[in-house]
Amino acid sequence: MRNCLRCEKEMVEDLDIKVEGAAYGVKVTEQGIFKGNLGKVKCAVCPECGYIEPYIEDPSKIKINSK
Ligand SMILES: [Zn+2]
Repeated sequence: MRNCLRCEKEMVEDLDIKVEGAAYGVKVTEQGIFKGNLGKVKCAVCPECGYIEPYIEDPSKIKINSK
């Protein structure tokens, strides 16, 4: 569960980010030799103030890759 940074209401999670006009999702990739795909970017929205917060679906991939 994740709360809004602004008003501390419970956010709606697990929403997809789409680029307007296309069906592509946004991906975050790691720079450097490995160029690993760190996974899909998901989004949480606060139903109270509309604040949106993007987050990586599986943060464990970052911990594994960063040495
Ligand atoms: Zn809020």
